[in-house]
Amino acid sequence: MTSPRKDWNVLSHGSAILPSHGREHNLSLVLQTLADQGALSRADLARATGLTRVTVSELVAELLHRSHVIETGTQEGKRPGKPSTLVDLNRPGLRIIGVDLSGIIPFRAAIMDLDGVILQSFSSQGRGATGQDAADQLLELLDTALAQCQVPVLGIGIGSPGVVTDKGIVLSAEKFGWRDYDLCSAVEQATGISTHVLNDADCAILAEHTFGQGSGHMILLRLGRGVGCGVITHNTLVRGAGFAAGELGHVRLHAQDTAECGCGNIGCLETCISLPAIWKALSEGQPKDQLDQQV
Ligand SMILES: [Zn+2]
Repeated sequence: MTSPRKDWNVLSHGSAILPSHGREHNLSLVLQTLADQGALSRADLARATGLTRVTVSELVAELLHRSHVIETGTQEGKRPGKPSTLVDLNRPGLRIIGVDLSGIIPFRAAIMDLDGVILQSFSSQGRGATGQDAADQLLELLDTALAQCQVPVLGIGIGSPGVVTDKGIVLSAEKFGWRDYDLCSAVEQATGISTHVLNDADCAILAEHTFGQGSGHMILLRLGRGVGCGVITHNTLVRGAGFAAGELGHVRLHAQDTAECGCGNIGCLETCISLPAIWKALSEGQPKDQLDQQV
């Protein structure tokens, strides 16, 4: 068996077979297994997923029909007989698009291959948009990226600041003034492409866990326009009650502080150690020792 990919850490994605697991779950499980392990025979896929060989054959047939997987050659079986055919993700024939809404600079998007290698990058024009204007700016950026993509796009991933549900609804993102905004559905309806929306710090920790130096138990603290934190335990992303795990930015540190936060409270961590807060303090000539203490 050969694999074109580097060694990745993989999230725990469970197994199949439970009655509640639908066909889409099992299709996803096959794709995740191929992403993690590279090309496999149908028999090896059955062993790796815990599904029956008959089920795996049906799932692979559907994925071949969708062009999500391809047959890449054969390998000699462990027993005498016909060599088995290897199946892999359609790495040459599919792309994914990632979008970062968290930066100080305008929105950024990238076309990537299925191994996460960035092939082309894009930035939106203008900054400071809120509400529907911010959503429109995002959709324009996606239009630009999709127009440049020469092969089909398997899915779109978006990292958004704020609290985001498992359905991709942004419960609150002060930066854009979004409340209970179904960003995932808005993008899917506009593009017709399967979309995942996740908190930006959660995206960062998943990237670090998968491609970087992460372990199965880790915390990532992210300082940008806001303050975010992602948590992984036992190779599983912790979402938390209300999907707000790691949302440290609005913890009130200084009750006596007068700096007003975008959330309406005063003394939030974001008003002390986010990048805009640090730049503001520097521009106002705040003494370094005082700034150190603050950070
Ligand atoms: Zn706040």
